[in-house]
Amino acid sequence: MLANKVALITGSTSGIGLAAARVLAEQGINLILHGLMSEEDGAALVKEFEAEYKINAYFSNADLRDPDAISDFMATGAAALGSIDILVNNAGIQHTEGAATFPTNKWNDIIAINLSSAFHAIQQCLPAMTEKKWGRIINIASVHGLVGSKNKSAYCAAKHGIVGLTKVVALECAEDGITVNSICPGWVDTPLIGQQITDIAEKEGVSFDEAQYKLITAKQPLPAMADPRQIGEFILFLCSDAAKGITGSALPMDGAWTAQ
Ligand code: NAD
Repeated sequence: MLANKVALITGSTSGIGLAAARVLAEQGINLILHGLMSEEDGAALVKEFEAEYKINAYFSNADLRDPDAISDFMATGAAALGSIDILVNNAGIQHTEGAATFPTNKWNDIIAINLSSAFHAIQQCLPAMTEKKWGRIINIASVHGLVGSKNKSAYCAAKHGIVGLTKVVALECAEDGITVNSICPGWVDTPLIGQQITDIAEKEGVSFDEAQYKLITAKQPLPAMADPRQIGEFILFLCSDAAKGITGSALPMDGAWTAQ
């Protein structure tokens, strides 16, 4: 059912996005890959995906802080592979610091990349999805779209914003065969959280592994990080026909973090 559809995953050069790209490619879905990587490395990634999964792929390293760059890369990607059927707004960054001293430039970057880019991408792909009467928009939010944590003002503001944006677009598209959902993961094993683990290891004089365990179990009852591929499988399920009634939801995958 999904073979030959076209998916765009922002931030698919690393972590959750890259794992999700592999899960979708295994189903024969053509992919617009994207992330901060050189053109040369991006071309190698396209080649690898086309050879391994026998699909068509395209790559862009557009900076998501620039709305014009987002429009350009989405238009070029769609011209190369066909209009976008599945949009996964996944790219994101983190900076942890108390609100009193949180740097304005970090606030602006986090809001632009983790929230505004999703709005711009959604706007760009809605006309074709509406015309086809089929579309899947999946926003990678976070448990921090549902609850707060100290030192994460910008991240929590952006992720709560994504959850709200998801609800509104789902309402607006409910009669058009387009579903819009947020996935809200707890800890996932990717480079994004490396700095937080290193900070604990340095502050408390413990090993990286001990610091990682402390970080996970401070808030998440299930004492292990998710594998990025598990998020990819969740995305695939939301793309399936079985999930066509799920829309406007913020779906936790958080090891019981928000059950407390
Ligand atoms: P990651 O650091 O492995 O990947 C981030 C991706 O975003 C990369 O491809 C990077 O190139 C891209 N990116 C960053 N800045 C960009 C910019 N200015 N322009 C274009 N692309 C840019 O991170 P990840 O952990 O895979 O995170 C993916 C998403 O999952 C993020 O939205 C993150 O908030 C969310 N998330 C992660 C976790 C976790 O524990 N890792 C938990 C919950 C939610």
